[in-house]
Amino acid sequence: MRQPRPAASRGYAPLSVSDEQDRALDAAFARARPGVVGVFDLDGCLFDSRPRIIHLLRELAGREGFLELYAVRDEHLLDWDLGATLRRAGISPARAAALLPEAQAWFSRRFFTGECALHDHALPGAPQLVWAMFRAGMSVVYLTGRHEEMRAGTEAALLRAGFPFGRPGTRLLMKPDMQTEDTAFKGEALREVELVGPPVLFFDNEPANVNLFAERHPDALVLFVETDHSPRPDRPRPGIPWIRGFLRSTERPEALALRV
Ligand SMILES: [Mg+2]
Repeated sequence: MRQPRPAASRGYAPLSVSDEQDRALDAAFARARPGVVGVFDLDGCLFDSRPRIIHLLRELAGREGFLELYAVRDEHLLDWDLGATLRRAGISPARAAALLPEAQAWFSRRFFTGECALHDHALPGAPQLVWAMFRAGMSVVYLTGRHEEMRAGTEAALLRAGFPFGRPGTRLLMKPDMQTEDTAFKGEALREVELVGPPVLFFDNEPANVNLFAERHPDALVLFVETDHSPRPDRPRPGIPWIRGFLRSTERPEALALRV
């Protein structure tokens, strides 16, 4: 039976599996065939971006001697609130407030670089699923809120993580610049996607984006990937399936029965 939806994404749980997720992934794979397009977001969708954040916080710890930043681990990164993340890591509210301006400045300077994005990991099961769909003949469009300056690092990250890329039938669409708003860009970019072929599948972790895709392509299967997302108040429309990752029940070893 379907679980009640939380008010917002609960954070990454890449090893989570459920019957509902199995059904959604099977339905997605069933859409893959020659002549159609699958559209995949990157950050918080195909990629787990938490290692990038932890990396840059440790860069700052090393540069400035802010050793408390070493306390931040994957499980503290639940949303885009860096101050809350520091407090969840056990840093006192006063110290977190004192560290926050420098941490935010470092984050802004480093997070949106292709080089730093190479620290991201693929969500387990994602490369295998995208490859299986690509082998079934579906074209693959990576539609990301990253901007063109990040292209070289993003292309390298896709290949390193094991996604199909750099061959006919794959495209990477990026924002022209960092200032362009993500959802507005994705709305514009859909025209370019449609030139490749009819989009039948969308995966994204931003509620406003999945709602946009569902509105523009009501016949497509749109999946909401529950990881983290922006503080915007949007919620995925009712009827849009949620997944927490790309693993099916049969693929998760019993030894990995962690939190779900
Ligand atoms: Mg995303």
